[in-house]
Amino acid sequence: MNLHNRLVIVGTGCGAVELAFSARASGWEGPITMIGDDPSQPYQRPPLSKAFLSGDTAEEALHLRSPDAYGNLKIELLTGVTVEGIERTQQQVLTSRGNRISYDHLVLATGGRPRPLPEAEKVGKNLKNLFYLRTKSDADGIKSTFAPGKKIVVIGGGYIGLEVAASAIKTGMKVVVLQRDDRVLSRVAAPELSRFYESYHADAGVNIKTGINIEGLEFSDDNSRVVAVQTVDGERFESDAIVVGIGLIPNSELAADAGLKINDGVVVDTNMRTSDEHISALGDCANYYSELYKRDVRIESVPNAQENARKIAAILCGKPPRPPAAPWFWSDQYDLALKKVGLQEGYDSVVVRGDVGSKSFSIFYMLGNRVLSVDTVNRPVEFNHSKKLVTGRLLVDKAALGDESVALKDIIEASRDDIK
Ligand code: NAP
Repeated sequence: MNLHNRLVIVGTGCGAVELAFSARASGWEGPITMIGDDPSQPYQRPPLSKAFLSGDTAEEALHLRSPDAYGNLKIELLTGVTVEGIERTQQQVLTSRGNRISYDHLVLATGGRPRPLPEAEKVGKNLKNLFYLRTKSDADGIKSTFAPGKKIVVIGGGYIGLEVAASAIKTGMKVVVLQRDDRVLSRVAAPELSRFYESYHADAGVNIKTGINIEGLEFSDDNSRVVAVQTVDGERFESDAIVVGIGLIPNSELAADAGLKINDGVVVDTNMRTSDEHISALGDCANYYSELYKRDVRIESVPNAQENARKIAAILCGKPPRPPAAPWFWSDQYDLALKKVGLQEGYDSVVVRGDVGSKSFSIFYMLGNRVLSVDTVNRPVEFNHSKKLVTGRLLVDKAALGDESVALKDIIEASRDDIK
């Protein structure tokens, strides 16, 4: 690829920004244009459900880069502009402003959108007190409902639901979480971790209800508000506000309309290239072949989007990409810093290291003696060691893993390399 070519990035999220700045740092000299429909300066999403929601972070602190940084590096930033089409033969994108922007290489960093709640869709999209959480404007809307004594019903017990619940209870709201599965965090964690978080939330005053199916919503007379949520087993929860966090849908329509291969996201190869060699994709919207997992994965996490971005930047600039690393995730709730590394699918046992009651422990997801994934709670050092265990697919002594008197560093040193 010619370093003077034109790079166009669709999206202004964390992966898009990482790509633009990494490309510049790796020697890309041609024009770089980022185009995103969000009107704000590119911002970090993770604090939206945590510190920003509870009022502990100001808006400026959300900026991914200072507003001047884009101009200083000649990165053109078009916010509030939607890319409406891709004309692959002409290598152009069409924007909502009626412009055509040419590209030599195009990167789709289109992210995802919250999965809509079917019961809410029935009355259209203008419910004033029902919120999803993806953008800063969503978080502003939720924040505006926070007031002591008000009732908030959170639908979904994933990261979004639990982080919103933790932020809301802190402001004195009455909080109910309705989770369909029989435990919270069921998509991402073992029952041991789910139970710990359920009891922590309950101790903080959150009413956590699991195994709940929603029968329907009760609307105000003018259909502008949800006044209560009814469950299949006959319970009724009144609501001043509702927050729905029931998963994410990858934004792959632009790619699909352009005839690119789609399968739960935009299909890309191990170098993040789509079925068109002039187009790559990254982050939440990209379904890529993972060298580490030897299968296709689509991973919803900030570090994954950033790693994808750095890889694309390196490849475009003719530099060797970094070796693949296991994906990781984090969630801050109350005084609990949860960090997870690796994907736990296929584990056959867990090893708990430390005392769950002490609020400082780790859970190792094992397949035989191999560590597939690790959840650490308030254990940053152990988290860093765990990255090595998971990325290296190391075989370890399970008994030692569960024995706090044996240092994790020593367990790693004694482990066997299992990279095939
Ligand atoms: P999620 O992690 O997929 O969790 C959604 C949860 O909602 C699931 O446990 C699901 O349980 C449940 N659910 C689905 N349909 C439901 C229904 N109709 N009623 C009640 N519960 C229902 O998704 P999320 O929490 O919405 O998060 C969206 C995305 O943002 C994810 O990619 C997430 O990783 C990301 N995010 C990450 C962080 C973080 O890393 N700290 C923070 C916020 C958001 P079932 O098993 O029953 O479907």
